[in-house]
Amino acid sequence: MGNHAALIPPLRRGPATAARPLREGLAEIAERLSAAGNVAVLLDFDGTLAPIAPAPDLARLEPAMRATLLSLSEMPRVLVAIVSGRALEDVRERVGVAGLIYAGCHGLAISGRGLEFVEPEAQRRELALRLLSEQLAARLEPVSGVLVENKGMGISVHYRRVAAQDRQEVAQAVRMLTSQWGERIRVRRGRQVWEISPAVDWHKGRAAQWILRHAAGPDALSIFIGDDLTDEDAFCALRDGITIKVGDAAGSAAEWSVTGPAEVGAFLLWLRSRLE
Ligand SMILES: [Mg+2]
Repeated sequence: MGNHAALIPPLRRGPATAARPLREGLAEIAERLSAAGNVAVLLDFDGTLAPIAPAPDLARLEPAMRATLLSLSEMPRVLVAIVSGRALEDVRERVGVAGLIYAGCHGLAISGRGLEFVEPEAQRRELALRLLSEQLAARLEPVSGVLVENKGMGISVHYRRVAAQDRQEVAQAVRMLTSQWGERIRVRRGRQVWEISPAVDWHKGRAAQWILRHAAGPDALSIFIGDDLTDEDAFCALRDGITIKVGDAAGSAAEWSVTGPAEVGAFLLWLRSRLE
């Protein structure tokens, strides 16, 4: 890199690359829906279907949202999949709708509608991740408000409840302990969380493509909605479909944007009415 890197101007992020408000796209989306066969609706959970909670365990799906997901999934040409950073069992219980496909740990584990998938390389690193999770928990024990969550094929270090002056310490511990594992693991920053995962060639985008291929048919129109950095992989992978960013639209690879879970719920109701 060196001098070469210095010659490349920084990536401009701003209005030029921002997702546009979804309400401006509804007419176009309605046209695509009427031309489509099967429709696959792929949804993130936290910050997308459910508001971000002060602690991950407090995130709840509104009954109205659950009813909307159920009614969508019962439509003959609609497939609904939840693609979350949470552990598979966790997100399945939290959503609590049978007949959906669930993908946990950013897609490393997928289950539902007769499909089962586990990314084999990630599974082989579960023991190493458990060890790392124990090291992190021990190292961060004195920091008030931090939560180290071992999800099997991933670790989340939540710092939403950590005081501002202690957050540097969390970042340092994550950096120090994860660096010992070299290139075998990957660290990414989400919304008030460090996401540690096995460095495998798999992410929400690959998982979404896998679900489309196995459950929705080759000509299905995909709709992906998500709010976080890891959802950008899916926006990039599903460029032929409809992509919707929840929250800050600037710099997102998604085509459209909404403000929060309430608008996601309204869009899903609108979608149902268009597919009837
Ligand atoms: Mg999210």
